[in-house]
Amino acid sequence: MRLTMIGAGYVGLVSGACFADFGHVVTCVDTDENRIRALEKGDIPIYEPGLDHIVATNVAEGRLFFTTDLDRAVAEADAVFIAVGTPSRRGDGHADLSYVDAASREIAKALRGFTVIVTKSTVPVGTGDKIEAAVRAERPDADFVVVSNPEFMREGAAIEDFKRPNRIVVGTTDSRGRDVMSEIYRPLYLNQAPLLFTDRRSAELIKYASNAFLATKITFINEMADLCEKLGADVQDIARGMGLDNRIGPKFLHAGPGFGGSCFPKDTLALIRTAEEAGAGLRIVTMVNEINEARKTSMAQRVIDALGGSVEQKTVAILGLTFKPNTDDMREAPSLALIPPLQKAGAQIRAFDPQGMDQAAPLLPNVMLTHDPYECAAGADVLVLVTEWESFRALDLERIKVAMNPDPVLVDLRNIYPPAEVQAHGFAYQSIGRPLLDRGESVP
Ligand code: NAD
Repeated sequence: MRLTMIGAGYVGLVSGACFADFGHVVTCVDTDENRIRALEKGDIPIYEPGLDHIVATNVAEGRLFFTTDLDRAVAEADAVFIAVGTPSRRGDGHADLSYVDAASREIAKALRGFTVIVTKSTVPVGTGDKIEAAVRAERPDADFVVVSNPEFMREGAAIEDFKRPNRIVVGTTDSRGRDVMSEIYRPLYLNQAPLLFTDRRSAELIKYASNAFLATKITFINEMADLCEKLGADVQDIARGMGLDNRIGPKFLHAGPGFGGSCFPKDTLALIRTAEEAGAGLRIVTMVNEINEARKTSMAQRVIDALGGSVEQKTVAILGLTFKPNTDDMREAPSLALIPPLQKAGAQIRAFDPQGMDQAAPLLPNVMLTHDPYECAAGADVLVLVTEWESFRALDLERIKVAMNPDPVLVDLRNIYPPAEVQAHGFAYQSIGRPLLDRGESVP
């Protein structure tokens, strides 16, 4: 099959490269000329483990192409995937569909022969209907169907998720659309990946419902962590004890600084707006969104409290800036809600992230960016672990302590260290929802 991806960002580029790896011929189109030029030279504009290899292999084997020439790429395609951004619209939290609308107009003009237009972007319920109407208005003669195929990949594990998905959701009631989508995903179907066919609106809603549910799970355990801190219980044991129940499952039960990223914050907001307009308020998701925003901004106070109530003229070292490990994505990262209030309270900030420094630099003015965790810790009064990169899990705590000012404090917002170990090295230690040693109880 000949496939065209409109948008060569996280989703478009990973999906395009993986589709090429299945044997399809894929052209990735982007309006960002620098991005396309970089890709043509073999430079990958995002950090995603394994992506460089899969792109290089498929380019070399003549199945993966990059261009800014949308017309030609669409005219030649059996299926055109819309994988452009759908950020929050400023002011009201609705999904901003301007990129989707622009892409649809361009696709309409270029259609030739029967073509399946696939929305891979996360779009509000009814967007497929609108795209269909817009394309039909522009090109009454065109032979096309619009199918919803939401993407569930996680940044940092996107290739694994794409190649071994929990499920593939396809929203269409058109038999030709169904046939083309079955053919595109046949390699995965043979791998027994469940292919769920439904109508277009249900497919669109499955994506939002899934993200809202995962966001709820995180927020639930975060509230349990707060309760644990009041009661002297250990949230990690609570999560383990809950997660062993098959009906609950262990994933997304890690207490932390609140969810961020390119999807959950904007998708929960967009779902709330969609529901409001449909006259069916979503009280749980609305609360989840509010609780999470408050949680992210409360993390600065947690650091201030850990230093005895003031960070004036103190140095705060931040480990981890991206919204999660194994990505360079800074969208809605908890670090962005943490650092500015600390600066406002008088702290000097030093920071290190294994992959996110280039993306973070313009977003975090007056932050001293360093080259490794030890340089980051130098002269700091408190070290705050914000993103749980693997390389932060086995730091040489003695070396960190020597680099820091006397009476060092470690605030571990991801619970990656055993409290006893950190305290044994002479740190004052704070984590999320776990008791401290000085309560006089044994800590595992
Ligand atoms: P992104 O911002 O990384 O990439 C979007 C790309 O589209 C950019 O390179 C941009 O230049 C390009 N673009 C915009 N308008 C265009 C046009 N008219 N023609 C060609 N290119 C155009 O976004 P992303 O993170 O890949 O997300 C894309 C969609 O997928 C969003 O709806 C998002 O919610 C959804 N999604 C994202 C993830 C994720 O982990 N990032 C996971 C699942 C779903």
